[in-house]
Amino acid sequence: MGDMRRIRNIVILTGAGISAESGIDTFRSEGGLWERYRVEDVATPEAFARDPGLVLGFYDMRRAAIQEKLPNDAHMALARLDAAWKGDLLIVTQNIDDLHERAGASRVLHMHGEHLKAWCTACDRRSPWRGPLIERPPCPACGMRSLRPDVVWFGEVPYRMDAIHAALRTCDLFVSIGTSGAVYPAASYVRNARDLGAQTLELNLEPSKGSPWFHESRHGPATEMVPAWVDELLSGLG
Ligand code: NAD
Repeated sequence: MGDMRRIRNIVILTGAGISAESGIDTFRSEGGLWERYRVEDVATPEAFARDPGLVLGFYDMRRAAIQEKLPNDAHMALARLDAAWKGDLLIVTQNIDDLHERAGASRVLHMHGEHLKAWCTACDRRSPWRGPLIERPPCPACGMRSLRPDVVWFGEVPYRMDAIHAALRTCDLFVSIGTSGAVYPAASYVRNARDLGAQTLELNLEPSKGSPWFHESRHGPATEMVPAWVDELLSGLG
């Protein structure tokens, strides 16, 4: 992976694969949730306009499910790295679960929003949310019944792109974990970072669409690959 002593600033992109071993279905897992629902029916603004009950019910089910799950050894290893790393570090996650935070990581950016927040489209406030939305409860801030899941749907713009690009510009190491490289713009970050001189490493169960763009790809389950990589990186600190 090159000379680790020169690494100071790190960007880590995570996807559904890092939460798979916690029991949260990935997008494309066989027999998984996404085989039973079509993305266009539940994860687009058009779907919400057409059938809000279907969309809210789907997210209510997911919101309840993730609260039953626990962070795994890969989330824990990243939290350990976050706590120990003196340079800049940013975990950019496409996941909307809160397993990075529950593992103890603090430098986390949710580019696709968060399950445990509701967004009021009337007053624009975001509120912590753990229960269902299907009954259209009032917004705690303005009282309007205009809450929706605070998640970025297909066709919507991911959050905090400026902060992500700023981190990509200054990182020396870009690591992608458990993401298929099929969902943009996240899939293009490896090229952005590499063009600007960063080392790039992929940790994924199997070769992904994005694999050819990385200097190095390692394949295996996140709960094994991530702790091993974190140990390697931290021992290189010397
Ligand atoms: P994806 O489902 O498209 O790809 C998952 C990747 O993880 C695959 O390449 C797969 O090989 C790999 N993987 C599966 N199990 C793994 C394991 N145990 N260890 C390591 N890698 C493993 O997911 P994506 O690339 O994140 O993109 C899908 C979109 O779906 C994102 O926008 C995300 O917001 C959303 N999503 C989020 C969650 C969540 O919040 N946990 C779950 C499903 C989908």
